[in-house]
Amino acid sequence: MPLGEFDLIAKYFTRPVTRAALGIGDDCALLSPAPGMQWAVSSDMLVEGRHFLPTVSPHKLGHKALAVNLSDLAACGATPRAFTLALALPRVDEAFLQGFSDGLFALADEAGCELVGGDTTQGPLNICITVFGEVPAGQALLRSGARAGDDLYVSGTVGDARLALEAFRGTVVLERADFESTRLAMEQPQPRVALGQALRGLASSAIDVSDGLLGDLAHILRRSGVGAEVQVDAVPRSAALRRRPLAWQRTCTLAGGDDYELVFTAAPADADAVQAAARRSGVPVTRIGTVEAGPGLHLVDRDGRPVDNRFGSFDHFNAAE
Ligand code: ADP
Ligand code: MG
Repeated sequence: MPLGEFDLIAKYFTRPVTRAALGIGDDCALLSPAPGMQWAVSSDMLVEGRHFLPTVSPHKLGHKALAVNLSDLAACGATPRAFTLALALPRVDEAFLQGFSDGLFALADEAGCELVGGDTTQGPLNICITVFGEVPAGQALLRSGARAGDDLYVSGTVGDARLALEAFRGTVVLERADFESTRLAMEQPQPRVALGQALRGLASSAIDVSDGLLGDLAHILRRSGVGAEVQVDAVPRSAALRRRPLAWQRTCTLAGGDDYELVFTAAPADADAVQAAARRSGVPVTRIGTVEAGPGLHLVDRDGRPVDNRFGSFDHFNAAE
């Protein structure tokens, strides 16, 4: 007999809670924010074929399902506290469930975020997580605060997840080491939670990069009513990506997607404080441009020459090898 729904929840997903007033097992979980704090709440759904490949290991999938949600908390500067998990499973596959819950809880423990509830049903594999984070009232980082003259930054490196996806699609062949390192970026993104918190009171706006650097930056610009100039050759990229032709480097870094790095703006007077925050959180940040008063996104190369912006859309990937 395969495990029933309740045994499955008990075996793979029920763990004692330490912060929440009530966790799994009743009709609702009960949570209270600390005095003076607000809840930051976000949901992200992962669908097989669209957000992950069937080849991904269950352990990495468990990690990634939570990681993409924690990335939204990071972009708000919130501290992760709790999450719920709504899961549709085609069948009860205990090897899958063990790997998935191990990957999920490994990251949950690292982030101090506990599973307090969810829902489980039979159906095509689908994973929906809702995260709850705490942020001091009024201090959440928003998309709407960028001001003309601010510096524009990105954390870590971008573009590797897209390069790995193209390798899986067979449009590029990578050396083994490059394949492994970029695949890690795609399958096990590290949400920039510590950096987001360190940027509270410093960054004027922030967003996490899920759909591609320029596309996500455009959300900041629209919400803030400003434009920007981006120096495309300054966008940080891995050694693996630097071994590809420049056209690939630009497409992967600017329109790659699935990066889960933070893009943010800060006043030039805070440049040293931004670098100190980056050092404290162990994630490098690189200045890639400037916020402008006029609308629009202008791209320039390292010599300041204009670069055509044909990087907006995921579908326009046709750079030749
Ligand atoms: P209800 O019928 O009220 O929706 P369920 O029988 O679906 O309750 O769930 C029983 C308990 O198990 C609830 O506390 C619910 O939050 C929790 N739960 C169900 N599925 C999951 C899951 N995948 N992960 C964590 N908790 C779950
Ligand atoms: Mg239910």
